[in-house]
Amino acid sequence: TGTLAHQRIDELLLEAHERYSDVDEGLLAHYIPVLGQVEPETFAISMSHVGGTVHGVGDCHHQFSIQSISKMFVYALVLQEHGHEVVHEKIGVNNTGMPFNSVMAVELNNGHPMNPMVNAGAIATTEMIAGKSAAKKWENVREGLSAFAGRPLTLDDEVYESESEANERNKALGRLLKSYGQLDGDPNNAVDIYTKQCSLNVTAHDLAVMGATLADGGINPVTGQQVVSADVCRDTLATVATNGLYERSGDWLFEIGIPAKSGVSGGIVAVAPGKGAIGAFSPRLDMAGNSVRGQLAIGHLSRALGLNLFASA
Ligand code: GLN
Repeated sequence: TGTLAHQRIDELLLEAHERYSDVDEGLLAHYIPVLGQVEPETFAISMSHVGGTVHGVGDCHHQFSIQSISKMFVYALVLQEHGHEVVHEKIGVNNTGMPFNSVMAVELNNGHPMNPMVNAGAIATTEMIAGKSAAKKWENVREGLSAFAGRPLTLDDEVYESESEANERNKALGRLLKSYGQLDGDPNNAVDIYTKQCSLNVTAHDLAVMGATLADGGINPVTGQQVVSADVCRDTLATVATNGLYERSGDWLFEIGIPAKSGVSGGIVAVAPGKGAIGAFSPRLDMAGNSVRGQLAIGHLSRALGLNLFASA
């Protein structure tokens, strides 16, 4: 039955890829100049079992910047470092109901970051990464995310430079958090490390492996390394469920029923606890900044494989 199950997954991946490869709704993320210039047709879907078999269809080894998907893995590293209580006290876990780069989400909550899956909360989370200097914190972020991927991840210099020149809003969020006493150090350092973490290159294959690590209590399915604890995976996935697709997170849970995190370059990772994860990439985005084809493909696979966490059968 093992082989049959694998064949079935390959067939389903192919089916999802064929079914949605003509969908051309959505827009590229023009607010980061180089992301507005990518090839819009690139489309990849990968799936990793907790057991380590990775399936894929399309451009699964095409590299793109991880963007906001980094937020869930940096949050996991911070939970591992400081523990549930300390992190929860500093960073909330409720949906902001607002776009990912919202200033209002900070203001309306008296400066307390509401959720680590949107920019303000993510900048405050990155600040909590272990390391005395900015350089050391960045090294820990890169090494931590690489452990999730099971290979050394590298910076996309072009994306990093492009975003650094266009991130006045994130710098404003950093200063706003600082004004509320929510950041200890220089807010520009926290924003810079955050910008770098968003500029790490990954593939759809990497996303599937990274997600499957969270699906399996922190054990990377390819390297066998225990990257974070099972408690950290549980807490991270709960938080991803509340805000992984921003103001569309409720619609997503209602329709698809598994935690998923998107990024503006067009990646999405969806995690089925105890089972595995799906990584998808297609750069055209809906109004909230979530990959259009990526959501469709993951929805199709989740239904076909019965992954909805809220279904009794
Ligand atoms: N680096 C991007 C930003 O801060 C990430 C946003 C995203 O992927 N939604 O604007």
